[in-house]
Amino acid sequence: MRNMAFYDYYDVAVVGAGHAGIEAGLACARMGLKTLLITQTPDAIARMSCNPSIGGIAKGNIVREIDALGGEMAKIIDKTMIQFRLLNKSRGPAVQAPRSQADKIAYSQTARLTVETTPNLYTLMDTVVDILTTASSTPLPPNADSQAEKGTIPGERRGNADSNITEENYASQAARSGMRQKVTGLVTERGRIIPVRSVVLTTGTFLGGRIFIGEYDAPCGRVGEPAAYGLTASLHRLGFTTGRLKTGTPPRILKRTIDFSKLEEQPSDTEVIPFSFDDKEVNRPLVPCHVVYTNEETHKIIRDNIGRSPLYSGKISGIGPRYCPSIEDKVMRFKERDRHQIFVEPEGLSTDEMYLNGLSSSLPECVQDAFMHTMVGFENAVQSRPGYAVEYDYVEPTQLYPTLETKRVAGLFDAGQINGTSGYEEAAGQGLVAGINAGLYARAHISLCGPLSELPHTMNGTPTSMEKGAFSLHDKMSREELQHFAELSERETKELNEFICGVQKSAGYEAFEKIPEYEPVIIGRDEGYIGVLIDDLVTLGTKEPYRMFTARAEYRLKLRHDTADRRLAKYAYRAGLKTKAQYEAVEAKYARLAEIEALLLKKPDAENPGYDDADWEEAKIDAKYKYYIEKQDKRVAKLHKMENTHIPPDFDYGSIPSLSAESRMKLEKVRPVTLGQANRISGIRNSDIMLLMVYLKR
Ligand SMILES: Cc1cc2nc3c(=O)[nH]c(=O)nc-3n(C[C@H](O)[C@H](O)[C@H](O)COP(=O)(O)OP(=O)(O)OC[C@H]3O[C@@H](n4cnc5c(N)ncnc54)[C@H](O)[C@@H]3O)c2cc1C
Repeated sequence: MRNMAFYDYYDVAVVGAGHAGIEAGLACARMGLKTLLITQTPDAIARMSCNPSIGGIAKGNIVREIDALGGEMAKIIDKTMIQFRLLNKSRGPAVQAPRSQADKIAYSQTARLTVETTPNLYTLMDTVVDILTTASSTPLPPNADSQAEKGTIPGERRGNADSNITEENYASQAARSGMRQKVTGLVTERGRIIPVRSVVLTTGTFLGGRIFIGEYDAPCGRVGEPAAYGLTASLHRLGFTTGRLKTGTPPRILKRTIDFSKLEEQPSDTEVIPFSFDDKEVNRPLVPCHVVYTNEETHKIIRDNIGRSPLYSGKISGIGPRYCPSIEDKVMRFKERDRHQIFVEPEGLSTDEMYLNGLSSSLPECVQDAFMHTMVGFENAVQSRPGYAVEYDYVEPTQLYPTLETKRVAGLFDAGQINGTSGYEEAAGQGLVAGINAGLYARAHISLCGPLSELPHTMNGTPTSMEKGAFSLHDKMSREELQHFAELSERETKELNEFICGVQKSAGYEAFEKIPEYEPVIIGRDEGYIGVLIDDLVTLGTKEPYRMFTARAEYRLKLRHDTADRRLAKYAYRAGLKTKAQYEAVEAKYARLAEIEALLLKKPDAENPGYDDADWEEAKIDAKYKYYIEKQDKRVAKLHKMENTHIPPDFDYGSIPSLSAESRMKLEKVRPVTLGQANRISGIRNSDIMLLMVYLKR
């Protein structure tokens, strides 16, 4: 037997401890599952890579939804905020949203302590390099592959499970079987093999990460942190398609070098609404932000040096976020603008660093210095960290179900920036949903497949993928190295699977290749921004970093930040993330609100006869918008009918003779799970949806 090591098994393993990873890990552990959170740098748990803030338009609603679903983000920001503002106060309640500056250091420390002290949750500092699977007894669904046209994904690399070995692409035996694969374990860079029931990948900007500052570029996941290699090649071997995206961040400045007397102050609101429904008040020291503007001189320096930007010199192939452009992009694209607004935001109470929101750049450091010094108040400003861009691998998200489980590999879930999104809130929302579903899968796996290992089992020594002198993982692997890695992976797969299968058999279970069935948590588009986010990703895919806006939610009147508990607490209760008493308290609150609303509808100018003020105000909004909400409810009811109409995975669209050729092609490509999802595929005619509805009812 070759030297190899098995380590203790876990019900769920989460790869990455960023904003998605901690939500996934905490959810699974709180569901009672033995959970491992593997991360390259425990000191960077829930680190804010970019802006020191949580919330904002639509994003603030996501944070409250995370709280209602039993997640952690709202509680952490309530403990660490240093400024609060309710945005859009002068506009309707549907578009109002809470936003807070965070003490970045305290935020990460609070998250870390929560993770490290949660029962059932274990952390491990290591890098995951490989995912091990077995071929299951379930055929691969017809829509398993990316639905994006070939050649349209930035930096596209298609997994090719049909072929044996192609250039740089070695499909695993399980992927070539034509059956759905089932995850069985993970391999780490230091040679651990970890048997698991389910896995959540939350690798952020680290897979194949590369940093760019002017002419400088280097392997990096985030400045000062290593990139992660191996996992992208593993994903290709499993048959997945990946692409490259990019994002950027501004320079950080030492506060004492800024002349604040020349800057406009932006104070905090004095009334702070806690993000968490469990927090009755927030008592935190609140500090102001400031506003500064670029000018013609700033723009001239940027224009004169634009050829030195990696974006313009062609060094970066990944697509960046359109809605959050770098300062060089803004100057080049909006030539008519003579100034751009920049917010000067504190990074925390225990640091002097300030964040320049709106001044993201990957120009050389000397150019960043020069254009920054042209701004009033910044004449003598000193950078502590330069702005930079980072390019990374993502998994094209039409390869996922709305549960965030991959279609190719059962028990493998993806969440966060790996799915093509950008933003802490978007990542955390996905992490929580993926975590809940990975937990539900693991629970079903326990009863179907029995034990993974009764005892921690160690076999003679260590190395696996990193056999001494045999292999090293780095950014540009040769064909020979990739082939060698693929061969090692097959060996590890075989040995691990024989081991697990043996353990299960000896305990009387014969279901090693069966995929467990579970009732997943899927949030509807009318139930949460998180539902809109996930549905957009898995139905439409994304070719640029996806960020949430209110405009993406057609039912936004129902998605107010203050009603998140009404919409989502039931899911948290079902998964075991809220107790019966907590759930009943939410029900009781909305019964009270209904009572107030009835009173207000009879007598709109009634005085509060003694109800809790917050309840009274919330019910007043409900009463005011009742007509519009009812109208929307009717549309939602129609939508529900469509959402509940399932389309069999092998449905023969050719059997509907009058379906337009264009719609048929699109439907065959996407293979939507429900009529509702079919309705959202761009370019599908309404008349074709009606036809489909008639055929599905037959
Ligand atoms: C330079 C930069 C600029 C950004 N700008 C903005 C912005 O302006 N606005 C905005 O909203 N968002 C911005 N973001 C994005 C925001 O930081 C992310 O969307 C968010 O952090 C994603 O969360 P995540 O959990 O998916 O990943 P991350 O927070 O990136 O965490 C990923 C974690 O996974 C770990 N990891 C990765 N691979 C492995 C592996 N193989 N094994 C073990 N551990 C692994 C990493 O070490 C890391 O801890 C920016 C990010 C960067 C890097």
